Amino acid sequence: MSTEADIVQLIRGVVGDDPFVGLHVPSIGEREKARVLECLDSTFVSSVGMFVTDFEQGIAEFTGAAHAVAVSNGTSALQVALELVGVRSGDEVIVPTLSFVATANAVAHTGAVPYFVDSDEETLGLSVDAVATVLRAARRGPDGPIDSATGRRIAAIVPMHALGHPMRIAELVALADEYGVPVVEDAAESLGSRVDGVHTGTFGRLGIMSFNGNKILTTGGGGMILTEDDELAWHAKHLTTTAKLPHRWEFEHDEVAYNYRMPNLNAALGVAQLERLPDFLEKKRALADGYITAFADVRGVRFLSEPAGTTSNYWLCAVRIDGGIVARNAVLEATNDAGLQCRPFWNLLHRQAPYRNLPHSATPVADALYESTVCIPSTPGLAAA
Ligand SMILES: *Cc1c(COP(=O)(O)O)cnc(C)c1O
Repeated sequence: MSTEADIVQLIRGVVGDDPFVGLHVPSIGEREKARVLECLDSTFVSSVGMFVTDFEQGIAEFTGAAHAVAVSNGTSALQVALELVGVRSGDEVIVPTLSFVATANAVAHTGAVPYFVDSDEETLGLSVDAVATVLRAARRGPDGPIDSATGRRIAAIVPMHALGHPMRIAELVALADEYGVPVVEDAAESLGSRVDGVHTGTFGRLGIMSFNGNKILTTGGGGMILTEDDELAWHAKHLTTTAKLPHRWEFEHDEVAYNYRMPNLNAALGVAQLERLPDFLEKKRALADGYITAFADVRGVRFLSEPAGTTSNYWLCAVRIDGGIVARNAVLEATNDAGLQCRPFWNLLHRQAPYRNLPHSATPVADALYESTVCIPSTPGLAAA
């Protein structure tokens, strides 16, 4: 078993000797400045402007999605996507307990109740077997399976591609189809990640992305809804832009809707970032390769590589530490003391204050992942330094 000091040395060997190395720092260059200035000069800084359309088309092209609808952030994207597949107040939505809190919050914003399920050891994502257990125990209802334990309709399943590593999405969609439950993919972390060449976020009825400052591509704050379905895409745009009926001057709105638009100013930043995405992805992979080599023969530490058959964007590089939460905490302390910004996985959602009294499935794998994982500096370009 290597010591915390060895681990600090190994990371330093890959990322260089800057006194402070952030976990994931955005790269803003001349292209970004030029586009944002262009947007400012146009005065179209808000809800109207060409950058939004350009960014939507760029993301659709990059992911292969038929439609991409830009919105204010990943959380609002997920809330609207859930409403679009028919999730309503009092329904239940299956989510991984190992996720960022936004996954559960988006469910709660619809009035539905999250049901937290265990993770998969290899992919870090939602366990397909654990979902199958919940669905098999459900009884048949008029509009989908009813969770026998809670009496709630299971209205959607939200898999998440943790740290950018694709979960077993094709298998999950096949299972969900069997039970007639729509899948909404939380691909907030996985822009650039694919399974057999197919982009994450395009397997479910809808998928969502986030462009928050810590994601692989940032618009400052922003999100995207992806779908193959023309009608759902139209409705996503309508619902996120106040449901206004087109008219030269009248203000007529045909449903209770949201102002979840992405401002043009943010989209301008996104257009510039998107041009650099292939380079970011290449550099992420080079960094991951550096860590793989560094940790190859280290006892008690295992680098988390992309699952077999997938291409990960390696959004956050991470290692698993043997020795339980005490060893994990020692590594967090030593690395952060040494100027290496490292973080644990999120506290499991079924233990967070707003969600801790809800029924959930057993979570042995998610517990083990939480107690052993340390995310390590992942800014693209670090390895070259
Ligand atoms: C970042 C993130 C979100 C939410 O995105 P915001 O743009 O911050 O609202 C949702 N789910 C996961 C898994 C995320 O990592």
